[in-house]
Amino acid sequence: MVFKIKIVLKSEEVKVYNLQLMTAMRFVDSVEIIGNLRVETHPKVCELYRYDLLDLPPPLSRITKKPIAVFQPESDDDVLKILKVAAKFKVPLIPRGAASSAYGGVVPIKKSFVVEFSRMRKFRIQKNCVIAESGANWFEIENAANRENLALRVYPTSAFVSTVGGWVAQNGFGVGSLAYGRIGENLEWIEVADFKGIRRVSGEEKWRYVGAYGTTGLILRACVKLRENKPINAEAVSLSLDKAVELLDGGYYAAYISCGAMKNLGLEGNAFLICREGWGDKNALGEYLWNRRFEPLKGINYRPIFSEVLLPLESVADFEARLREFCKSYEIVFSKNEASIFAIFDKKWESYIRALKVLKVAKRYGGKFYGLGMISYVKDKNLREFKRSIDPHNLLNPGKAFQPNLISKIIKIAVMLA
Ligand SMILES: Cc1cc2nc3c(=O)[nH]c(=O)nc-3n(C[C@H](O)[C@H](O)[C@H](O)COP(=O)(O)OP(=O)(O)OC[C@H]3O[C@@H](n4cnc5c(N)ncnc54)[C@H](O)[C@@H]3O)c2cc1C
Repeated sequence: MVFKIKIVLKSEEVKVYNLQLMTAMRFVDSVEIIGNLRVETHPKVCELYRYDLLDLPPPLSRITKKPIAVFQPESDDDVLKILKVAAKFKVPLIPRGAASSAYGGVVPIKKSFVVEFSRMRKFRIQKNCVIAESGANWFEIENAANRENLALRVYPTSAFVSTVGGWVAQNGFGVGSLAYGRIGENLEWIEVADFKGIRRVSGEEKWRYVGAYGTTGLILRACVKLRENKPINAEAVSLSLDKAVELLDGGYYAAYISCGAMKNLGLEGNAFLICREGWGDKNALGEYLWNRRFEPLKGINYRPIFSEVLLPLESVADFEARLREFCKSYEIVFSKNEASIFAIFDKKWESYIRALKVLKVAKRYGGKFYGLGMISYVKDKNLREFKRSIDPHNLLNPGKAFQPNLISKIIKIAVMLA
């Protein structure tokens, strides 16, 4: 694609960045932007932005595209400038947090601009919530909240690296979701930017963005609810899954760890970990497993292939009985009314088939893929119509979440054949 862009140089710094951009994009004519906006265009750097943690088999990974440039906005103004350029030259925009997800949401499947939010990471604690920019890191927020005797109600176990924008865009569930639900249920409001400008949304309207994987707008910041920082009492016991499900009431966090996954930790038997806010029993194994929550792959010394599915609570025990026949290593994390099952396989070709089979079996029990991104999609007529109204050229993270792409179509067929 050849872009015709006129470059207006405003300062020495801009000159450097814009000249790089010009070379990378074979710019010919015009553009009046860019102020001090940071842009990275070195081909080797851009190559890194083709990936997240998703490990596609080689033929499929060729579908992904190296971005033209990576923008790193530092302010709302920067984001608006990027939107302006994208709209003018019809270049897709791929929002990116820490790229710690494995669903391909940040992976470009067209020649695009990546918008990386790592420089918008400020936050401030205020009464019982935190107002955080999109690139703010969950672990830093948790530490700052703890200093004020507050704590995040929910956060992902990837909190060391992942960002507010990334988790909100996926409406993830994680630590605390047993008591408080998904992140989307714990937001006062979010601010988003699209081609028409910036707006603050709350109530029903926020669901147009929460869980939309950046396909309907760029999340600038979120007001996230906090809880009082009560101590967590963690207890772990060896139990069958159907018995474990009966003990979830009043819990803050609960996980069921299979024998295979415990073996990776050098431990025997299975374990059901139940954590409660400020009450309940605790024991040494519970403390150990609670403290390792940020390392779900601890003890695995190979790069695994994995599959993550969501099941309604009532069918998770039946599903697990079937899963045990072809997967030894898995962990189940519970939320209010569903459970996510993270199944791990070693890196062999047949593991890809087994990973797909996890989904096939899950579907039989009313389950679905945990993440959408590039690997899966849902049919959502309302969201599609909304997107068409605000993004008529389909520039905001195209082919993701509720728009099928070649990879999600291939995976859908592969699941049927697995
Ligand atoms: C060890 C480990 C543990 C994990 N634990 C959990 C867990 O407990 N729960 C869970 O849900 N997931 C978990 N994950 C997956 C992943 O880390 C999380 O979903 C995480 O929150 C993603 O955040 P991120 O900043 O890396 O987002 P990214 O991967 O960068 O982006 C995710 C999606 O959000 C979009 N996006 C990013 N920023 C914006 C923005 N500003 N505006 C609009 N869209 C945006 C991207 O385009 C992409 O579609 C885990 C991953 C690892 C490696």
